[in-house]
Amino acid sequence: MRDLGIGSWPARRVKNGADRPALVYGDRVDTYADVERRTRQLANALRAAGVRRGDRVAYVGFNHPSLLETFFATAQLGAIWVIINARLAPAEVEYILTDSGASVVVHGAEHAEHAARLAHLAGVRWIAVDGAAAAASGAPGGAPGTAAAAPGAVGFEEFLAAGGTDVIDEPVGWDDPAMIMYTSGTTGRPKGATHTHGSLSFQYFTALVDTDFVRDEVMLAVAPLFHVAGLNTMTMPTFLKGGKVIIQHGFSPTSVLETIEAERVTSMFAVPAMMDALALDPAFAGTDLSSLRNVLVGGSPLPDRMLRTWADRGVAVQQGFGMTETAPGIYLLLNEDAFRKSGSAGRPHFWVEGRVVGPDGRDVAPGEIGEVVAQGPNVMRGYWNKPEATAEAIRDGWYHTGDLATVDEDGYVYIKDRLKDMFISGGENVYPAEVENALLDIPGVAEAAVIGVAHPKWGEVGHAYVVLAEGAALLTPDDVVAALEGRLARYKIPKDVVFVDQLPRTATGKLQKHLIRTRLEESA
Ligand code: ATP
Ligand code: MG
Repeated sequence: MRDLGIGSWPARRVKNGADRPALVYGDRVDTYADVERRTRQLANALRAAGVRRGDRVAYVGFNHPSLLETFFATAQLGAIWVIINARLAPAEVEYILTDSGASVVVHGAEHAEHAARLAHLAGVRWIAVDGAAAAASGAPGGAPGTAAAAPGAVGFEEFLAAGGTDVIDEPVGWDDPAMIMYTSGTTGRPKGATHTHGSLSFQYFTALVDTDFVRDEVMLAVAPLFHVAGLNTMTMPTFLKGGKVIIQHGFSPTSVLETIEAERVTSMFAVPAMMDALALDPAFAGTDLSSLRNVLVGGSPLPDRMLRTWADRGVAVQQGFGMTETAPGIYLLLNEDAFRKSGSAGRPHFWVEGRVVGPDGRDVAPGEIGEVVAQGPNVMRGYWNKPEATAEAIRDGWYHTGDLATVDEDGYVYIKDRLKDMFISGGENVYPAEVENALLDIPGVAEAAVIGVAHPKWGEVGHAYVVLAEGAALLTPDDVVAALEGRLARYKIPKDVVFVDQLPRTATGKLQKHLIRTRLEESA
C-alpha cells in the first residue's frame, strides 16, 4: 500500500479493528472489513466498466452506504468522484454531468426518473442502487410517476458483485483530484469545487484535531452527505478514527431523537433548520440527550433562539463556519467555548489562516466588519472548468469567502451575512441575517427572510417575508414592526412585512434570496 489516497482508508482500517461496525443503515451493519471488501469489488467493477485514473464517477442520491462506497472505490482508482445534490431537478443534474464529463453515474432509489430522463446523455453508464426499480414503479418512498430506469441501467449490488477481488494498486498522491462537489447554489448556479486527496485529508485531520473525537464515536449522519459539511466535518473523520457512522436516509426529527437516545449518539452535524425542527418535535423534551458531546452546526446563520433552546437542554452547540470551496473548515467554536462564546463561529481551525479584512486588505479592528478570507491546505484546487471564477475567488493566495464578519477583543469571529445580501439604507449598512434573527425572536414567527429593495428616498429598504408558526396567536404586519422597535435601529426595521406560507430554501435549509426576489418580490 503505497498511496496516501482516501481510497486506501478501508484497507488501512481493517489492519486494526476489522470487525468494528463502520456504517450502520437501518438494520444493516457493515464492519470495516465489509467496507473494505465491498469497495474493493466496486473499484474492480468500475475498472472493468472502463473507469481510469482522472475519469469522473458521479453519485446522485440521498444518504446511503453506497454513497460512501462509491467515493472510496472511485478514489482507489485515482478517478474523481462527482457528488450531486439529490434535490436537483433532472435538467440541473444534466448540467453537472455535462460540466464534469462523468462517464458513470450511480443513482439512488429516488432517482430512477432522473436516469430515465437523462438516458440520452452519450457515453454515460447508469447504475441503480437497489430499490430504484421499485421507486420507478411508484412504490412507497419512490418517485411518483411512471418513470422507468434508464435503458441498460444495472443494479448496484449486481454490478458490485461482478467486480473482481483484486487489490487495486493505483498509487494516489495528495495532489491528485479526489472530488468535485458543487456548491449549494444558494446564490445562483452551483460551481464545481475541485478538491484533492490532500485538501480533503487536511479537512479531516483538522476536524480530528479540533473536535473531541474518540475511537468509540457514534456519529449520526443525517445532514445530506452530498453537502460539504454533512460529508466532511464529522462523517469522514469518524470513519478515519474507526468509529461508527449511523446513516439516515432523510431527515425525520422523530427518528433522529429516537436514534440519539437508543444508540447513545455522541456526535452529529446539523444545519440550523434541522436543529429548529428537532426542538419543535413533541419528543424533544423527553429525549435523553446526555450522550451528545459534539454537536456541530453551521451552513447558515444560527438564530439566538435555537442556541438558547439547546443550551437549556445542556447541549453545547459548536458553531462551524466554512464552505464547499474550503472543504469546509475555516472557523470552529471549540466545545469548551460553546456556552461562553455562544453565537460566535470561534477561531480558525488548526491548519487554517482565517482573517477578517477591510477593503484595504488589512485586518479589521475589533467590532468592525470585514470579509473573511482564508488560506490553508483544505482550500480547493479551483472550480472545475472555470478558471476565471477560480481566479476571482482565490486572489494573492487567499480564498475570498464573500461572507462578512466581525472579530471580538479575544479574536472570536461572528459571522454577519453574505456581502451579496447586505444592503444600504439611508447610508447605513443593513445585514439581513441580523434582522432575521430579531424577527425569529418574536413569538409566533416561525421563519423570516429579509431582502433589500430599491427605494426613492433611502436608496434601499428592507422587505421582510415571514412564515407564522402554526397555531400561533394572529399577528399583523404592524405587530411585527412594533416588536422590532426599540430592539433594532430604525433603518434596519423592514418597511414592508409580508406573510407567506413558505420560503424558498436549499436542501440544507438555506434561504435562497435570489428566488425570494424573483418569485415573491416581483409578484408582490
Ligand atoms: P453558492 O456558493 O452556490 O451560492 P453556498 O455558498 O450556500 O452556495 P455552500 O458552500 O454549501 O454553498 O455554503 C457556504 C456558505 O454558507 C458560506 O459562504 C456562508 O454564506 C454560509 N455559512 C456557512 N456557515 C455559516 C455560519 N456558521 N453562519 C452563517 N453562514 C454560514
Ligand atoms: Mg458559496
